[in-house]
Amino acid sequence: MKELEDKIKKDGEILPGEVLKVGKFLNQQIDTELLKHMAEEVERLFKGTKITKVLTIEASGIPFATAIAMKLSVPMVFAKKSITSNVSGEIYTAKVYSYTHKNTNHISVSKAYLNEGDEVLICDDFLANGKALEGLISIVEEAKAHVAGAVVEIEKVYQNGGNSLREKGYRIESLAGITRMTDEDIEFN
Ligand code: 5GP
Repeated sequence: MKELEDKIKKDGEILPGEVLKVGKFLNQQIDTELLKHMAEEVERLFKGTKITKVLTIEASGIPFATAIAMKLSVPMVFAKKSITSNVSGEIYTAKVYSYTHKNTNHISVSKAYLNEGDEVLICDDFLANGKALEGLISIVEEAKAHVAGAVVEIEKVYQNGGNSLREKGYRIESLAGITRMTDEDIEFN
């Protein structure tokens, strides 16, 4: 998506460890016009695909997932990055290694919010090694719901998480795919 690629080039900052900071327009301050256009693009990409719920992970996936869910007129559910209580086994959980924070979170979703028969579109801001999406996919499948597909704002294609999920048969879309990132330049596919 050209508008997103141009914004990344203009306002993205490359941090050590190949982390792209997008706080100026996606993650902390949010460019709402761009967000609206991204949701329209996702609606176009998934036209004809049945989706009953949008699922993401807190915190940075929430604006994107909400904008998409509003476009599709379906509920948005987000996984929490902690387990508050599971005394009566009322939550689905998965372990997710965080690329940016270099730690492991036990993410959780209340069983009340994902049901057998749901057609779930998984969303996130970034796709790098694929651990966040893998955790969300495992929760959807534990709920006996179906993964209709996944979409991320930015895929770091060279980190291969997306391609290994595609090889497993999942439909993975990204609005901007970075093939190379150096201090001087960012290349897209
Ligand atoms: P993965 O699990 O695919 O390795 O990484 C995706 C998760 O890590 C996303 O939820 C995102 O929050 C974070 N992440 C990965 N790479 C980047 C990056 O370059 N910049 C930012 N801001 N977050 C990233």
